[in-house]
Amino acid sequence: MSWKRFGVGILLLLAGAYFLLFVQDPMPARTDVAIDWARVRSLAGEPSAGPRSIGSEVVARGRFFGWMVCAGCGWGEVPMEFRTYQLRWGDGRSVVIDAVHGADLHGSMPMLKDHDGAAFARQTEAIRSADATVLTHEHWDHANGLRAVVDDPAVRSKIQLPAAQRESAAIREAGFSEAELASLPAIPDADYRAIAAGVVAIAMPGHTPGSQVFYVRRADGAEYLFLGDIVWNARNLRERRGKGRLISAVAGEDAGAVLSQIAFFADLWAGASAGYPDFHFVVAHDPENNRALLDAGWIEQGLLLP
Ligand SMILES: [Zn+2]
Ligand SMILES: [Zn+2]
Repeated sequence: MSWKRFGVGILLLLAGAYFLLFVQDPMPARTDVAIDWARVRSLAGEPSAGPRSIGSEVVARGRFFGWMVCAGCGWGEVPMEFRTYQLRWGDGRSVVIDAVHGADLHGSMPMLKDHDGAAFARQTEAIRSADATVLTHEHWDHANGLRAVVDDPAVRSKIQLPAAQRESAAIREAGFSEAELASLPAIPDADYRAIAAGVVAIAMPGHTPGSQVFYVRRADGAEYLFLGDIVWNARNLRERRGKGRLISAVAGEDAGAVLSQIAFFADLWAGASAGYPDFHFVVAHDPENNRALLDAGWIEQGLLLP
């Protein structure tokens, strides 16, 4: 073989690898995910008993490249934010979803910028005063904020991590010791689990072994799905686009499971006006989607503190 042909061969190979890893969308035509909505709504209890409002705060910011968010989405920078959410009932009870990481961890990560110390302190206060704290999944940017409260037995007893989250390697990478994890309440794994009136966890392993989607029905009947990191940006849902192969591998995901979940929620998103219930999809890292929810009043800016 001549050097010229060899060179062309290598270039073609590289182009093929680039296409497969960054560009080609491996999304399946059909999903194998199914959610028993009747079961979920029944576990949520009396429609009027749900939280009255949902507050949220941005604790940190960063950016991704387009290809990290979705297959074929290029090299343009996509802003991302790290949010905690607070479900609030009329009688003063509250549940916190996700505990954004602290400043020291933030500083050690590439592509991350502003970390808001005051917002982090408010998040810690919200967790301290919550009746329960739950995580969409056990990655550091959703779990590490619990480090600020885990030494307090009274708060620790209200942290509800199912076994799949407590046993995951990711929760250890998020900074928790074996002793700390062993001191948390023993919550068994379940396909569907009632967290509080109007709040149900739906097990959705894939992005991590302990990933779960939260169904929330506000007291006025509005329904929400907190998707965790099944997608990092609502563009995947709007365009029914998967994550690229490379980023799924780097993130250690079960890529097949996640793609099927993205297909499921993208179809649900697209079907919202065609007879499906109008869910409000909460995509924690997507500033644009969060802004739309805030502007329409589905989520309120800020956390209520005692
Ligand atoms: Zn995340
Ligand atoms: Zn994650």
